Amino acid sequence: MPPALPPTLVRDLDALSAQPADLLVIGGGIYGLTIAADAAQRGLAVVLVERGDFGSGTSFNHLRTIHGGLRYLQTLDIPRARESVRERRTLARIAPWAVRPLPFVLPLYRSITKGPLAMRAGFLLDRLVAHDRNEGVPPSHRLPAGRVLSRAAAQQRYSELRLLPLIAAALWYDYVTVDADRLTLSWALSAATAGARLANYVEATALRVSNRRVTGAEFVDRLTGREHVVSAGAVINATGSRVDQLLAPHGASTRVPMLQAVNLVTTRPGPAAAIGGRSASGRNLFLVPWRGRALFGTWESPTLCGPDDLHVPDTHVDAFLAELNEAFPGWDLSRADVALVHRGVVPAKKRQDGSLALEGGELVFEHTPDGLDGLISVAGTKYTTARAVAERIVDRVCARLGRQLRCASMLTPLPQVALDGDALLRHAARHEMVQTLGDAVKRRTPLGVLGRPDKAQLAHAAAVVGAELGWPVARQAAEVDALERDYLSA
Ligand SMILES: Cc1cc2nc3c(=O)[nH]c(=O)nc-3n(C[C@H](O)[C@H](O)[C@H](O)COP(=O)(O)OP(=O)(O)OC[C@H]3O[C@@H](n4cnc5c(N)ncnc54)[C@H](O)[C@@H]3O)c2cc1C
Repeated sequence: MPPALPPTLVRDLDALSAQPADLLVIGGGIYGLTIAADAAQRGLAVVLVERGDFGSGTSFNHLRTIHGGLRYLQTLDIPRARESVRERRTLARIAPWAVRPLPFVLPLYRSITKGPLAMRAGFLLDRLVAHDRNEGVPPSHRLPAGRVLSRAAAQQRYSELRLLPLIAAALWYDYVTVDADRLTLSWALSAATAGARLANYVEATALRVSNRRVTGAEFVDRLTGREHVVSAGAVINATGSRVDQLLAPHGASTRVPMLQAVNLVTTRPGPAAAIGGRSASGRNLFLVPWRGRALFGTWESPTLCGPDDLHVPDTHVDAFLAELNEAFPGWDLSRADVALVHRGVVPAKKRQDGSLALEGGELVFEHTPDGLDGLISVAGTKYTTARAVAERIVDRVCARLGRQLRCASMLTPLPQVALDGDALLRHAARHEMVQTLGDAVKRRTPLGVLGRPDKAQLAHAAAVVGAELGWPVARQAAEVDALERDYLSA
């Protein structure tokens, strides 16, 4: 049998709006894409529109860690820990090419609640909660159980710990997404393979409502300015930080407060393990080795922000660097080490003392009381568990549509496109709905994921993509300029 051809994405807005859909998904981040894939795999007729490129919002900016929810054991939140274990395992089963095991090391100090004894108890509990973490997982991806290392053993294995006055260290294993943006895109490819109609650079501008029921949405093709309408039996609002924008004209709101969350991709080489640290303010931070570099996260802005507040001011970068230098002494990080600032606007919550923190659990809203029957909004909080949330949302959609359709997304392999270099650039331009140089360089290939490539590399990539898409030389140069500005805008 000849090898199967890689799946493709075809942008056809007339076809997209020609037929009513069972389900319209607005937003093509990890949440929208997993919902579209799950629903299409069950046999629903699905349309998804994304105002920018697939995975270009918050989903481009996560810390690349797929975690099994060890932290939830601290508060004995067993259901969430179980869900994280299951979803971590699911990704290792359906997309082993996109993730790999990574040791995580956390220095431990004298403390009743966070010291070695508490950690040992946590690992014992984790053995129960995560007992099936390796079921059906390829041997290369099986995760050993966590354990506590002595100070001497920890400092001998991980030189980054040598300057710290720790008394022991916790060691456990999670996954890191090596090919983070191809993993996100693979959900789009999987949805399209199952028959979903998807388009990037298409913005939903208004919900269509009739008799207090959402019947579809109006949208505009941002490449041509043409307007279209899609009718659907159910609509999902998976617009990330913009979750309230389509609701506002109808007097509805999720009232989810938002914070800016930030990671720093540096030019420093990454260590062999992810290392945890704590700043003087008590913030937990991680140094994650990613594609050979040290990636640091996650820092949150001290105040709430608006849905499009993506600019990270220098004062915030400096404050983050100061905390990193407290948490990771000896690294002596400065702005000169920063190659790329990851930033996203994410759901927040108020702690009891009034301070702000990242919201931990998914937020899903039905809008029937707002006169918007048939609409579900989701404000996602974890890349790791997006598929599980998608499964639950599509269960609700199926119940609403009166269709009994079983979920298959936890078993359906996500497509890998085993190409690299110029071959992958060409393939992406021809078959994966690339519209801009940024789409090709940041989300279809890893060329620009560690920071701005130099001008010669960008010009070469623009020539390769331009040859496929018929870009004249002036368009190629304009694409290079626009992408350079985009990198500098962080
Ligand atoms: C700094 C940082 C670190 C993180 N680290 C981790 C981690 O290590 N592990 C983990 O599991 N999670 C992590 N997360 C969380 C995770 O990244 C998010 O929960 C997830 O990416 C949110 O996905 P989403 O689809 O809800 O949002 P988005 O990715 O923002 O997708 C929403 C999409 O909707 C589109 N859209 C908006 N309005 C419209 C419209 N009108 N019409 C059409 N499209 C529209 C946007 O363009 C956008 O692409 C991190 C987040 C941040 C910011």
